[in-house]
Amino acid sequence: MPNTSKQHSESDLDPNPNYTGRFAPSPSGQLHFGSLVTALASYLDAKHCHGRWLVRMEDIDEPRCIAGTDTAILHSLEAHGLQWDGEVMYQSQQHSRYQEVVNALLHHQQAYYCSCTRKMIKAMGGTYNGHCRDKGLTPSNDQLAIRLKLDTELAPFTDLIMGEVSAPHQKLAGHKVEKQRVEDITIKRRDQLFSYNLVVVLDDVFQGVTHVIRGCDLIDVTPLHRCVHQSLGYQPLEYGHVPVAAIAPGRKLSKQNHATPIDNTTALENIVRALHFLGFDEVKRQDFNSIDSLLSFAISLWNRKKVVKTPEIIVPQHESTYYSVP
Ligand SMILES: [Zn+2]
Repeated sequence: MPNTSKQHSESDLDPNPNYTGRFAPSPSGQLHFGSLVTALASYLDAKHCHGRWLVRMEDIDEPRCIAGTDTAILHSLEAHGLQWDGEVMYQSQQHSRYQEVVNALLHHQQAYYCSCTRKMIKAMGGTYNGHCRDKGLTPSNDQLAIRLKLDTELAPFTDLIMGEVSAPHQKLAGHKVEKQRVEDITIKRRDQLFSYNLVVVLDDVFQGVTHVIRGCDLIDVTPLHRCVHQSLGYQPLEYGHVPVAAIAPGRKLSKQNHATPIDNTTALENIVRALHFLGFDEVKRQDFNSIDSLLSFAISLWNRKKVVKTPEIIVPQHESTYYSVP
């Protein structure tokens, strides 16, 4: 196995026993190359810091989930040596906890019922203007959405990997640009589903997550997640975003793009390719005869500064294990 002492000294990360990271896949599709990259990055960041690494199934949008996919994802993670700490959490089993929070927010008038339709919001210019905030609506025969009061602006933040990230701005007439006020987001939809933007924040707090390493496809929503954390009285977390694998500009590798499931029988090759993708070109497949030795090496090699600082990387079409053309 190659000597790792030199690389280790180049990293700027100290061991942090309080570090808790997580990988949170949606069981709507199996693990593919793009999601393996994200899982690996969050695993290596956690383990390099001597922290815990959790897995959470984001199956809140149950109609989109496919039975058995959770098991397939977990099996793939294990085949790639990415062993999680503790029990896997399922969002579909957390509804009573989410409902308690929503009830408390309604009780303290931090949330309210909203009867606005999609058409009405479109007429507001696409951004909800707080129309129902002071109406005191109560649930009747009509199913109403529930919104969270947010009286703040989206703030810039320092990303652990990408560096300074500015907050999204709103372009006004006459090329004027102003800071974007956050709209009161939906936390429970008309169809009674809890919103992703609420439960992702609640679950991270509930699981004691301190560091979120995820794909750049979520970097634009991070200022909002930080905002929701703050308005619920929680400390914001540390966020780091890694490049996403894409088949063309703006089209990330996904189930919708026919990404093929990762082949568990070539786990060593897959991990080496994922490391190259992230910027660790020096890792050579032939230097390793087991997943464990490869991962130990990668853990010591991990360095946020070395991760490629670009939001997406186009993966070549001829790599048929990345995706198949329908
Ligand atoms: Zn409304």
